[in-house]
Amino acid sequence: MQTSFSPEQLQSPRIQLADDILRNCVHCGFCTATCPTYVLKGDELDSPRGRIYQIKEMFEDGKGAGPQITKHLDRCLSCLSCMTTCPSGVHYMHLVDEARAHVQETHKRPLIDRLLRTVLALVLPYPSRFTLALKAARLARPLAGVFNNFSALKPMGAMLALAPGKIDKPGPLSKTGVHKSDKTKSGRVALLTGCANSVLEPSINEASVRVLNRTGIEVVIPAGMGCCGSLEHHLGMEHGALEKVKANVDAWMAEVNGDGLDAIIINASGCGTTVKDYGHMLRLDAAYADKAKTVSSLTRDITEYLEEIELDGFSDKQNMRVTYHSACSMQHGQKIKTAPKALLAKAGFEVVDVPEGHLCCGSAGVYNIMQSELADQLKTRKLANIAKTSPQIIAAGNIGCITQLASGTDVPVIHTIELVDWAQGGPKPGKIHP
Ligand code: SF4
Ligand code: SF4
Repeated sequence: MQTSFSPEQLQSPRIQLADDILRNCVHCGFCTATCPTYVLKGDELDSPRGRIYQIKEMFEDGKGAGPQITKHLDRCLSCLSCMTTCPSGVHYMHLVDEARAHVQETHKRPLIDRLLRTVLALVLPYPSRFTLALKAARLARPLAGVFNNFSALKPMGAMLALAPGKIDKPGPLSKTGVHKSDKTKSGRVALLTGCANSVLEPSINEASVRVLNRTGIEVVIPAGMGCCGSLEHHLGMEHGALEKVKANVDAWMAEVNGDGLDAIIINASGCGTTVKDYGHMLRLDAAYADKAKTVSSLTRDITEYLEEIELDGFSDKQNMRVTYHSACSMQHGQKIKTAPKALLAKAGFEVVDVPEGHLCCGSAGVYNIMQSELADQLKTRKLANIAKTSPQIIAAGNIGCITQLASGTDVPVIHTIELVDWAQGGPKPGKIHP
């Protein structure tokens, strides 16, 4: 794609990066067929190619973003399906990240939109605030229908509908500190406990620690580590996102330089995609660039890591039919396609793929709150495809997808690692009825 940035514009690192990415696009349009929003709306402006054109115009124009491009960028799920399909290697993720930051810096959204985005950024990344908000949401749930009657307030209704009925208290294995294995030590890793996992389903982190400990791996949950920054990053709030990124880099590098780390383990693929990108996000920060690169190079999804160490010890194999839902951040963001399924098969489960599995379930961070109508359509489509496989369990490796799918089905939706833990003799996941 030809671009026409002036030499002055190209002084900006943002424009330089956008120019490099835009020049790789050959307008072939292959990406449109696999873009969930294009599939639903059939509008070129809601396709990857259409968004790429709009971003190019916005940056070339050099002015602030307008409501039109903001609408079409807001509708993008950042599912990255377009990156999997693109034959030219267009890095849509970095392009849309820069575009969102530009929108955030230059466009004044309607008041309610601004307020809602600020509240989400101030609450969700902080487990104690998030827990309080969920308790309040349980009380306010009867109001969901009222909010849904006003289009500007629909995100509030969506938020209430997604809030879980009960919140489990984290157990000792969720605590900050070192979780030693009682086997001979064979490695040492840090675990990102995350903001959503630790509040919505602490059992995921606890199963992760048990599985790693069983193979002799010491697990540290470092003090000072917090949200990975994706929530604000995807809202274009770069300052808040980078503060969180730096805090995590500091926490993990203290471990790397202390007792050492073989890997940084992530069990929410949405966070994993972001942490693997820390090296890029902090590339222009002289004080952090090298450290962030080290952190990204150490980062592994838990299934990716367990595949590397060839996990075994499945003493309690379960013979059940599991439909594996691959999160977009897993299959498109991190290109992890086989490791989770191989692990489940090793654990004794019959593993089935979801038809049309490349399409997003509509979760996508806070997309199911901010764009609830499109998200609901994608959820319904995904659950209909899953139902064709007649599963006894749905497995996924991302808390966002787990929450999204569970809000529309009675089939238990369980994190892959909890199923692996169960097959190794760990507790039966609470969602599976006797
Ligand atoms: S990230 Fe997903 S929704 Fe956004 S343009 Fe690409 S395929 Fe479409
Ligand atoms: S598939 Fe790649 S090269 Fe083709 S239009 Fe989409 S982004 Fe551009």
